[in-house]
Amino acid sequence: MNYDIVILGSGESGTGAALLAHQQGLKTFVSDSGKIPLRYKDELEKAQIPFEESMHTLDIILSAKEVVKSPGIPDTVPVMQEVINKKINVMSEIEFAYRYKADSKIVAITGTNGKTTTATLTYHLFKKADYDVSLVGNVGFSFARQIATQPTAWYVMEISSFQLDDIKIFRPDVAVILNITADHLDRYDYKLDNYIQAKFKITTAQTKEDVLVLNLDDQNIKNNLNYITTNPKIQYISMEEQKSKTGAFISENEMVLSQESERVTISKDKISLNGKHNQYNTMAACISARVAEVRAEKIRESLQSFQSLEHRMETVVSIRGVEFINDSKATNLNSVWYALESMKKKTVLILGGVDKGNDYSEIAELVQDKVKAIVALGVDTKAIQEHFRTMVPVLEAGSMEEAVASSYELAAKGECVLLSPACASFDLFKNYEDRGEQFKVAVKNL
Ligand code: ADP
Repeated sequence: MNYDIVILGSGESGTGAALLAHQQGLKTFVSDSGKIPLRYKDELEKAQIPFEESMHTLDIILSAKEVVKSPGIPDTVPVMQEVINKKINVMSEIEFAYRYKADSKIVAITGTNGKTTTATLTYHLFKKADYDVSLVGNVGFSFARQIATQPTAWYVMEISSFQLDDIKIFRPDVAVILNITADHLDRYDYKLDNYIQAKFKITTAQTKEDVLVLNLDDQNIKNNLNYITTNPKIQYISMEEQKSKTGAFISENEMVLSQESERVTISKDKISLNGKHNQYNTMAACISARVAEVRAEKIRESLQSFQSLEHRMETVVSIRGVEFINDSKATNLNSVWYALESMKKKTVLILGGVDKGNDYSEIAELVQDKVKAIVALGVDTKAIQEHFRTMVPVLEAGSMEEAVASSYELAAKGECVLLSPACASFDLFKNYEDRGEQFKVAVKNL
C-alpha cells in the first residue's frame, strides 16, 4: 500500500494533521510507537483513517510520499533514520497545515518562557476587537485540526522549538521570539547555539512583507541576529528606548509602541499582568495587535480585562496575612528569576523537583535580597541545599502538603509563599498542573 502521508506520533498535532490530510483527500496512515490516547483513536476510527499503535511497520512508513513528524520525536530514533536515509520529505504538523491555510494570517510566538501567556494575551486582544481568530498550537487545538474543522481569518499560535524543526514554507505574518535561555538542551546535543538557531527558524520563510518581533534585551537574541537569513521588518521590544528602532519600550509610567508612522502610549497601570516578564509579553502582544490594525483604544481597554493564567504567578489566597502564589509552570531558573524580581514582599520560596542542570547562582542575588527561607521539595534536593544553605535557611519537604505547612510556619504576616520550582515536576507529580493543583489544595486545607 502506498500512502501520500504517513504521520508519526498521534497526539493533538498528529491527529490534527491526520484529520486535515484525510479531509484533503490524501491517502493517510498514522503510526505511533506508543499507545494512542483513546480520544484520538476514536477520532481516527470515526474518520476511517488507518493507524497502528505500539509499533512502526517500516514497509508502510517507507512507502509514504511524505512524512509528518510529531514534535516529540527526535531525528535520532531508528524509524526517523530510515525515513531520512530514504530521502522522504519530512515536515512538522505546522509546516504541513500551512499548505491549507488559504489567505488567513498568522501570529506565531516562540521563546523559552512566556509563550502561552503572550499567545493567550494576543488572542484576547484580537478577540475583544471582534476579529475572526483562533488560538492554536500548544494551547487549544493544533493548527492542522483548527484548519480542518473551523478555519479562521487569523491564527495566534504558540510554537516550541521542536515544532520549528524542518520549517521551509511556514511563513508567519508576525513572528515573535520572546527570549532564549538554556532549556531543553538534551534535544540539541547540549549546545545552546543549536537551540538558539532552532528558535530563529521561525523566520526562515518570512519576507519583507512580514514582521519579526525580537527582544533586544536578551543577549542570546541580540548576539545572534545573523541567524536571520531573510528580510522581515524587525520590531524590537526592550525596557529602554532605542531611538533609531521601531518596536516597543517601557518608559517611566508608560509602555510606548513606536512605529514608523505613529507612536501609541499605554499607561502602565492599564497592564493587568504583574512583573517585568509580563511587560515583555505585553509589548509583544500589543505590537502583534497593532500590526493587525487593532485600534489602540481597543488595545488599552482589553489589556485591563486580561486575567493572569493558572499556574503562572497565580495568586491563590491570603491566610492570616500570608499570601500564597502558584507559579508551578516555572520549570527553569529564568522564570524563577522573573518571579522573584516581581515580588514586593519577603518570600518563602518553594523550589525543587527534577533539576535539568540548573546553575542556581543565576538567582543567588535575588534570593539574598528577597527570600526569607527556602523549602526544597522533591526526591533529590542536594543541589539546592548545597547552593543556598549558607544564604538562607533551607528546609526539606517530601510532599506538597509538608512543603506548604513548613512554608506557612516560616512566613510572617505581610509575607508571601511562592511556589516557583525551577524544575520539572515528574519526581512527585504527574505534571506541572498537578503540582499547582496540589499546592492550591494544600493551601486551602491549612
Ligand atoms: P511557556 O508557554 O513558554 O512555558 P508560560 O506563559 O506558560 O510560558 O510561562 C511559563 C513560566 O515562565 C511561568 O512561571 C511564567 O510566570 C514565566 N514567564 C512568563 N513570561 C516570561 C518571560 N517573558 N520571561 C521569563 N519568564 C516568563
